[in-house]
Amino acid sequence: MTSMRTRRRLIDRLRSHGIDSERILGIMEATPRHLFIGEALAHKAYEDTALPIGYNQTISQPWVVARMTELLLEHDESPKKVLEVGTGCGYQTAILSQLCRWIFTIERIGALLEQARERMQRLGYHNVSFLHGDGFEGWESNSPFDRILVAAAPGEPPPRLLDQLSLGGRMVLPVGGGHQYLRVITRTANGYQEEQREAVRFVPMLRGQQE
Ligand code: SAH
Repeated sequence: MTSMRTRRRLIDRLRSHGIDSERILGIMEATPRHLFIGEALAHKAYEDTALPIGYNQTISQPWVVARMTELLLEHDESPKKVLEVGTGCGYQTAILSQLCRWIFTIERIGALLEQARERMQRLGYHNVSFLHGDGFEGWESNSPFDRILVAAAPGEPPPRLLDQLSLGGRMVLPVGGGHQYLRVITRTANGYQEEQREAVRFVPMLRGQQE
């Protein structure tokens, strides 16, 4: 169920659903998604679906991870400083850590963050800094960021995150309450440029933090 053949089948599916970057596909093929979820669901790890990870949260669907990563790296294949909001189980973090110099990741649920931190250490993803906090605030002391990826849906792009984007930097996030769409926001000398992309389904971005 977690064999290389099963993994390859997922990668073929992503490719046939419009993911073009062989670099991202290669990294997703090499990353053991089954080790990011509970054993009881491990047999579903290489299906193209979101799965529960406890605390009412989910690991994102592989196609969504691939697409957001592709949009994030457009025009800069190896960004230096990347902020991720919504660590969850750390799967998207692990993909980003293999493509970018340094990842700063924020999670509002302390227990999930600690599990992700321990897992990343064990699996050898070392270029990641973790923060238990509210992603609406961003991570000012490490800003500006070349790229920001948000893995939970706010009603509108959070102003503090826009502030923490470097000039020429870009943010990819789902936006909306009922119907959500991916939005790509680029910071230019004159302000921000926005494009709307695919419809998606994410858990809501919530304020504050919990244990
Ligand atoms: N990237 C994850 C998906 C996580 S689901 C993966 O690959 O599996 C979204 C996560 O965002 C949840 O863990 C949720 O707790 C977190 N989240 C929601 N609102 C947040 C906020 N304001 N700040 C930080 N994390 C938040």
